Amino acid sequence: MTLNTPPATIGILGGGQLGRMLGLAARAMGYGIRILDPDPACPAAAIADHVEVGNYADVEAALRMAQGCAVVTYELEHVDASLVEAIEAAGVPVRPGAMPLKITQDRLAERRFVEAADIAVAAWREVASGDDEALTDAIGQIGMPVRLKAAFGGYDGRSQIRIATGRGRALAWMDLGRPAGQPVLVEHELRFAAELSVVCARSLDGQVVPFPVARNVHDDGILVESMMPADVTPDVAAAAQAIAVRLAEAMDLVGLLTVELFLMHDGTLVVNELAPRVHNSGHATIEANATSQFEQHIRAICGLPLGSPDLLSPVAMVNLLGSGPRRRAALTGVSAALADPDVHLHVYGKREVHERRKMGHLTALGASIGEALERARTAVDQLGWMP
Ligand code: ADP
Ligand code: MG
Repeated sequence: MTLNTPPATIGILGGGQLGRMLGLAARAMGYGIRILDPDPACPAAAIADHVEVGNYADVEAALRMAQGCAVVTYELEHVDASLVEAIEAAGVPVRPGAMPLKITQDRLAERRFVEAADIAVAAWREVASGDDEALTDAIGQIGMPVRLKAAFGGYDGRSQIRIATGRGRALAWMDLGRPAGQPVLVEHELRFAAELSVVCARSLDGQVVPFPVARNVHDDGILVESMMPADVTPDVAAAAQAIAVRLAEAMDLVGLLTVELFLMHDGTLVVNELAPRVHNSGHATIEANATSQFEQHIRAICGLPLGSPDLLSPVAMVNLLGSGPRRRAALTGVSAALADPDVHLHVYGKREVHERRKMGHLTALGASIGEALERARTAVDQLGWMP
């Protein structure tokens, strides 16, 4: 078992806000950071020793980035698995490895994996983009309304189309915007009671530690609010954590696995999506838990013991989204937002803002999640973007 301790260097495939916050946690512990990102001015650049500029299919750039790293991880699942395999072949471990990546970057493989672990997912079928007949058959079998989700490449609700009536199938294919023949997941749209998530860590020696369950609110596919602990019964919380533990073990991953779930009105749980990484719904752990999700991931991939996931206070997080046309990002209202001493601001350092872009987040602590949410909402309402 390789133990990697500071001042070793950690490589991160992807330099977005997740890479930035992972890097901040690693820096605090004394690690060096190398990043691979197509954009030299990516959010993680500010905290990195080096940014290797290259896209997520550029094996040469990935190998240059991995040079001198004790371990490499990824902050997004849309990395070409060949990169991970090449880095491992060069003798640098990648955690979680290629397998969790291959499962979670393909929505169809992910559905099969969850089903194989005997855990519920919404009724689904695989169809080829543009195949109206197959789509009609699938809808006949699983029932309207449905969601069409491109197997590869979607996030924040992109590459996902809703069909609720008999008409508009040709339009739906057009809106999905995938070349004919590409694999697409057609899935029944569930009328859930709530969306939940569990971030779960698995250490190199197989210890599995879930964080408390979060309750999440999405707007048109993008996360807007998250609260911890989720206001669900202890049985539901335990069941959600047990699902996350089971999937982390089945995936045999080292690092974090996030499981997004639907809580149904009858109290049952259905898995929606997996991410082998830190997650937007775990950001509040920075202020509210004994160990943040970012520190936990670093500890896991470095072969260190895991930290306590204990929640120290009810907490709410709201995302700070962009608005208006694409332009230079200048934030207003910061002082007013921070007038509440229990509110904390995180800004990701993206140079440009545009409508609904994830620019940062606010975390608020409170005596209850209701109070925390109220504070976080009040604070985010103070913030805006210069025209
Ligand atoms: P992404 O990768 O964009 O997060 P998801 O599959 O998680 O894609 O979908 C984003 C959001 O869309 C979910 O969090 C949920 O709010 C909604 N959604 C997705 N699939 C379904 C479904 N089958 N039934 C109901 N809502 C869904
Ligand atoms: Mg999702």
